[in-house]
Amino acid sequence: MKQSYDIAVIGGGLAGMTQALLLAQRGWAVACIDRERPETQTHENYDIRTTAISWGSRNVLTHAGIWQNLTDKAEAIRHILIKDEDSPITLDFFADDIDAEAFGWIVDNRDLRLALINALAEEQAFTHITGADVTNISNHDDRVSITLHNDTVITASLAIGADGRKSFTREAMGIGSWEKDYHQSAIVCLIDHDKPHNGMALEHFRHQGPFAVLPFTDTESDRHRSAVVWTVARDEAEQWLQCSDESFTAALQARCGDLYGSVTLAGGRAAWPLSVNKAYHYIGERTVLVAEAAHGMHPIAGQGLNMSLRDIAALTEVLETVKDPGDAEALKRYQSMRIADNLGMVIATDWLNTLFGFDFAGIRAARRFGLHAVARLPFAKKFFMKQAMGAAGNLPRMIREAA
Ligand SMILES: Cc1cc2nc3c(=O)[nH]c(=O)nc-3n(C[C@H](O)[C@H](O)[C@H](O)COP(=O)(O)OP(=O)(O)OC[C@H]3O[C@@H](n4cnc5c(N)ncnc54)[C@H](O)[C@@H]3O)c2cc1C
Repeated sequence: MKQSYDIAVIGGGLAGMTQALLLAQRGWAVACIDRERPETQTHENYDIRTTAISWGSRNVLTHAGIWQNLTDKAEAIRHILIKDEDSPITLDFFADDIDAEAFGWIVDNRDLRLALINALAEEQAFTHITGADVTNISNHDDRVSITLHNDTVITASLAIGADGRKSFTREAMGIGSWEKDYHQSAIVCLIDHDKPHNGMALEHFRHQGPFAVLPFTDTESDRHRSAVVWTVARDEAEQWLQCSDESFTAALQARCGDLYGSVTLAGGRAAWPLSVNKAYHYIGERTVLVAEAAHGMHPIAGQGLNMSLRDIAALTEVLETVKDPGDAEALKRYQSMRIADNLGMVIATDWLNTLFGFDFAGIRAARRFGLHAVARLPFAKKFFMKQAMGAAGNLPRMIREAA
């Protein structure tokens, strides 16, 4: 293993690996360090979630050469149906209405990880350091020193913290963060169903938490499938994980109604505790935060990784303009490109979760008025559709432009 790199990415989850890949493709000598080994990260039980990759994020993955290997595993979202409790007022968004191919695509996290690991293995300028915990980060002589659990020290001109919500890098940089536990968990699973989903993503807001059903690829035997993200109170999650398949399926069927015909559980279930975090700033001396190390949010709008891919695209583009990747001005430019956009989405998802969590008559009525108004205002509908596509705001070039 080399000891010295241009850039060290700390944390090789979906975000860290994408960041490392884009930078290695630009000729930087990059190391990506993760405490897990690839065989653990790609084990079928490691992460059974799917991710809604927005239109803009698809562009980033295409630039990285990843999307080309995922197209036949990705299902397009062409219709979003919003429901509020048992209200008869619903809101429908159709990609056709804005002449878009799709709002986004649902991809299995395991397929995305495998595609990233395989692409990274092809990069000459890349070193994957796995099964290695980062235990210390320090700056000296224009380098950052990163100590691993076995006392190995590697150095880099820039350290990128992509080590998730409980980021060690953020702590080592002395950066504070706003954090809130939602005391909710998201139960995730795949379902088989009789009726085709026709590219529809259902977002059913319920005061216990949103219930989302996202279109997924049919099985080889042509069974229709969708991915469920079902938010429950934290203290109920264990009960839903432990109950029999029959009871769980009955609960899913009750929540899906007749939209999908008969529904059956297809595979395992898992729960993810939900919280929000936002670092107060993203940069230090030759160190920078991206993705969930900088901001983590409620999956209510399926935007966590999508916002992270905006960070990654922005940092990659900023580093294209410098010789020294630790250049302080470049890091400042990255921070100013990303901090407000991330804050906006953190606040929006926090408010949405709070607003739809209220079960008071007055607030229910106000929500219904809001849904009704958006449904009747073409410019408001267009605004929300562009947001869902990840095509709104001051975006990095890689997000705006298809490869
Ligand atoms: C239920 C659910 C559904 C979601 N759905 C969507 C969606 O539809 N669309 C979307 O855009 N987003 C979605 N998200 C968000 C998305 O899953 C996350 O943003 C993404 O997985 C986080 O990626 P990350 O790489 O930033 O962090 P992580 O996945 O947490 O990766 C961090 C990595 O760092 C490593 N690490 C940590 N500390 C150290 C250390 N000290 N030394 C070495 N390695 C370390 C860890 O092993 C890990 O591999 C969802 C989230 C949830 C919970």
